[in-house]
Amino acid sequence: MPVLALPRALDAPVASIPKLYASDAKRLARLGIVTVRDLLLTLPFDWETYGAPTEVAGISDGQQATVVGTIASISARQSLRRRIRLTEATIRDDAGAPLRLVWFNQPFVAKQLQRGDRIAVAGTVKAARYGGALQMQNPHYEKLAESDDLEEIKPTRVGGLMPKYHLVEGLSSRKIARWVEAALPLADKVEDVIPDEVRERQRLIGVADAIRRGHRPETDQDFADARKRMAFAELFELQAAFALMRASIAAEPATPIPYRQEVIDAFKAGLGFELTNAQRRSTWDTFKDMAATVPMNRLLNGDVGSGKTAVAAAAAAMAHAAGMQSVVMAPTEILARQHLHRFRAYLEESLPGLTVELLVSGQSAPERRRVRAAAASGHCALVVGTHALIEDDVEFANLGLAVVDEQHRFGTRQRELLRAKGRGRPHFLAMTATPIPRTLALALYGEMSVSVLDELPPGRTPVETEVIDPAERGRAYEIVRREVNAGHQAFVICPLIEESETLAAKSATAEAERLQKEVFLEFRLGLVHGRLKEKDEVMQRFVAGEIQVLVATAVVEVGVDVPNASVMMIEGADRFGLAQLHQFRGRVGRGAARSYCLLLADDPSEAALQRLELVARIHDGFTLAREDMERRGIGELMGPRQHGLTDAAMESLRSPALLDDARAEVQRLVADDPQLDRFPALKAAAARRLELTSIS
Ligand code: ADP
Ligand code: MG
Repeated sequence: MPVLALPRALDAPVASIPKLYASDAKRLARLGIVTVRDLLLTLPFDWETYGAPTEVAGISDGQQATVVGTIASISARQSLRRRIRLTEATIRDDAGAPLRLVWFNQPFVAKQLQRGDRIAVAGTVKAARYGGALQMQNPHYEKLAESDDLEEIKPTRVGGLMPKYHLVEGLSSRKIARWVEAALPLADKVEDVIPDEVRERQRLIGVADAIRRGHRPETDQDFADARKRMAFAELFELQAAFALMRASIAAEPATPIPYRQEVIDAFKAGLGFELTNAQRRSTWDTFKDMAATVPMNRLLNGDVGSGKTAVAAAAAAMAHAAGMQSVVMAPTEILARQHLHRFRAYLEESLPGLTVELLVSGQSAPERRRVRAAAASGHCALVVGTHALIEDDVEFANLGLAVVDEQHRFGTRQRELLRAKGRGRPHFLAMTATPIPRTLALALYGEMSVSVLDELPPGRTPVETEVIDPAERGRAYEIVRREVNAGHQAFVICPLIEESETLAAKSATAEAERLQKEVFLEFRLGLVHGRLKEKDEVMQRFVAGEIQVLVATAVVEVGVDVPNASVMMIEGADRFGLAQLHQFRGRVGRGAARSYCLLLADDPSEAALQRLELVARIHDGFTLAREDMERRGIGELMGPRQHGLTDAAMESLRSPALLDDARAEVQRLVADDPQLDRFPALKAAAARRLELTSIS
């Protein structure tokens, strides 16, 4: 390997690293790696040891192995039924024994390799389900040159210790390892965010050490130490960021909203149902918070359908009674409209004088003007809307409460803009429909207090959930057909395609066409995906019942209430987190009818099937979230990059110990130094984290 020149500095863009081209920099940016420092701080998520090459004859099912051979055939194709791009190859080792190789969704492999190439592959050997022929799935591979000496085993080489970095198309762990190597001499310059005293108390290694041991460990312990330190540092930075945020929120007082029994009495009388115990507890939490001068900063963490809206409505009623206005921001127009109806039903009749209005960009200009005027004059007590609410020209006479629904869909900046609509700070209530375990809530939303809604209103029948073998897809279609014929509606969710939304949109479009032409000829089908401009119109038509079967990509917001929908069919269910599946399932079973959730898996491994069976068995979102976390780790639970934490940090959250330590250490620091001025590196890192979470 040629000796590479040193990159200029830690803050320099990664492209300053030799042999790292602009196209690579773009790919790295998608992984959150922009500067040389980012590259150094992004450790591999795992290492694999494959050992020296062996012959095919000597390997067996389940073994990790390295095999050297010549490509006898290679081809790429689209698997139609499973909607996967497959690259298949066969190599023959020097004794002539064949080994089948399969790569899923890595079509670029076929462009890089061709028949006759000599390659080394490393991976886990599997015996095929039928016939028992040996194969490797998604193996690491390396093209070998004539001159390659197989005895010479270097780290980062197939056959040696192989780092596994997170990748996007066009990158390989080997490439990243090479760039890291070039940047490694700068490790000593990376400033340590963890003060010495903390490091000593927590027995953590320093940052430079962690970078070196993480990228080039000599022992398993090296890697474990490096990971632990990095995980701690992340949690520590985040907690520091929360502490700073809390301090800044508390510095700007809110107008207290006193609790009044007669208001809640009137509110309850107008509801038409009894609040659940969980709703009562959460309502009480918010009332207590709002009665203080420290602005409320609370998260309603509740299962789908647990009735978060009623809690927010109770808070708005109390604000109104105190002469203050409220605002509710939802991520989509259709959700905002749904909120409008619900808030009106909950509030307008029982609390005379309380008017609810809608503000979305889809309204006519005069209508928007009218609502803006009502908000600015203080005439309107509650404005429900979308991003349109945070436009400059929207003003409130006296905003006392700001509510954000599906808060993960908004960035910190947008939430801040909404809060800034008040004179002084309004009380703030966030709602999320992803039930998350306590540890995770503390790690990710540490600046907020959390109320948990872990109880569903009575009288709901659980959604009948079934894992269906793809070979029996026809049976799933029959259930859909039966339900639609009975006057109900159905969702069909397409598999998650993480690499690109364009691809996801394409595959959903193809699926919708196929279903219309080949399966549901007699039904009115609709399609929504992230790239579609008229998403809201389509959803509206589904809500109105014009569309009978809605085909949707996974990324599309289906968080609307369609009580008439009774089937949720999910393709590629094994690629989703359990919590996500549970979310989808929550979209049906909202009406009185019996409803169904059908899970179809592309290529279910035994473990994947077991996970899906959990969804079929467990109907409580929190239990499911905990189970999922134990099985797959937290990163999977939240879906990629919703959290901004590396998987080392996520992994550490399986037990509360490291997080508790990080929290305690931050508390210790801010007790003496609330602004963290004595710890500039930490303060800067915390500020970066706040900014990071503000990009939605
Ligand atoms: P989510 O927490 O998912 O936002 P919603 O607030 O949309 O849930 O409530 C779901 C449905 O349950 C709505 O139709 C709502 O009117 C109803 N609901 C809420 N609370 C209760 C309750 N305590 N008893 C009966 N129905 C309720
Ligand atoms: Mg809701």
